[in-house]
Amino acid sequence: MTGEGDHVTDQKPDRILDSDFFRRWLTVAAAMVEREAGRLTELDSAIGDADHGSNLQRGFRSVTAELEKESPAGPGAVLVLAGRRLISTVGGASGPLYGTLLRRTGKALGDATEVTPGEFTEALRAGVAAVAQLGGAKVGDKTMLDALEPAAEALGASFSSFSAAAEAAEKGALATVPLQARKGRASYLGERSIGHQDPGATSSALLMAALAEAAEATP
Ligand code: ADP
Ligand code: MG
Repeated sequence: MTGEGDHVTDQKPDRILDSDFFRRWLTVAAAMVEREAGRLTELDSAIGDADHGSNLQRGFRSVTAELEKESPAGPGAVLVLAGRRLISTVGGASGPLYGTLLRRTGKALGDATEVTPGEFTEALRAGVAAVAQLGGAKVGDKTMLDALEPAAEALGASFSSFSAAAEAAEKGALATVPLQARKGRASYLGERSIGHQDPGATSSALLMAALAEAAEATP
């Protein structure tokens, strides 16, 4: 006789994402930025001005410091707060773009105290669309969107799609190597931008890896 438990264990109920989940995402992202800052700056020294790692380090340090002081009421408020910190501390092209990503995603989540993975996916897609609108870039222009768009597409209604999103972002970042930059500072190099991985796409892949790690650490 097969016990009912056999098949119940196969069905993972969809988990709910609360403020703690989003704080964890940002904390893990900040740790990854600390670890990878040297590499991000090195990538930016090849096709930019060698500040991407230090820009994000400054921004994410400010985000974690703020989250230690403040307890935003819900997921949306956590992301809006982080987006504001990035806009006011990062500077460069990536500050307003990442700030917009988090702020717009947070606004789309509204003031719910808990959201489903599907609701988060919808919100993140709105955030990515806002980045595309602000920067005027599209997939293939060798920017952070080359990682963010495929990640947003891979995200779905289930918690398990978070790791698929991380993989899609990583693949998208690697795929920027043969591209010629059409937006941002790297575009000034014309054909000389070919053969280098885009720093912003690389940091976006980190952000998505942090999301997957936060999801795995969720009880
Ligand atoms: P800056 O280029 O001002 O020095 P950063 O070095 O911090 O800023 O960030 C560079 C990254 O920003 C690029 O690698 C690219 O991914 C991203 N970026 C630049 N311009 C745009 C844009 N218009 N749209 C989307 N992403 C962009
Ligand atoms: Mg730069």
